[in-house]
Amino acid sequence: MPLVRYRKVVILGYRSVGKTSLAHQFVEGKFLEGYDPTVENTYSKIVTLGKDEFHLHLVDTAGQDEYSILPYSFIIGVHGYVLVYSVTSLHSFQVIESLYQKLYEGHGKTRLPVVLVGNKADLSLDREVQAVEGKRLAESWGATFMESSARENQVTQDIFTKVIQEIARVENSYGQE
Ligand code: GDP
Repeated sequence: MPLVRYRKVVILGYRSVGKTSLAHQFVEGKFLEGYDPTVENTYSKIVTLGKDEFHLHLVDTAGQDEYSILPYSFIIGVHGYVLVYSVTSLHSFQVIESLYQKLYEGHGKTRLPVVLVGNKADLSLDREVQAVEGKRLAESWGATFMESSARENQVTQDIFTKVIQEIARVENSYGQE
């Protein structure tokens, strides 16, 4: 019998960057047209990676900005984070930097399992943030970077698979210290 491990992952980012659309595409396999501001939503999905099974509990949050105070529920008991900005909004990219700093401090400045996602990559004419900038920021945190479009299912599978792998990677690196 495989062990089912519980993983709580919080999706954070400025409003309207596509947090809900990514979670919805991943869990329901559909793209959401039209804007529906999220209060806070949770999703559950069993993810199988090789021989391991994970019960992934996703928390899709209302958008934050640089002034947001993150509640304890975004820190305590959370295994990993998907931090989302939109490649069409430089402001959303700047907000992500400040959110990361708050999480990092909230966790006592330990290494965090994070996947940084530059979403809306299909809107190439409106691009304000280059992929290389996202990559550089993720590297400075020791995190994984991906660009995505919530219109595509596969990339959402990759994002949430990656965050489970990042959680394992960070846990293992502590085990070796
Ligand atoms: P949230 O506030 O961050 O949860 O953002 P939503 O998921 O509600 O998305 C905000 C708007 O952007 C909606 O109208 C979505 O249909 C649209 N949207 C989200 N992701 C994408 C994407 O990857 N590409 C495009 N073209 N539109 C997107």
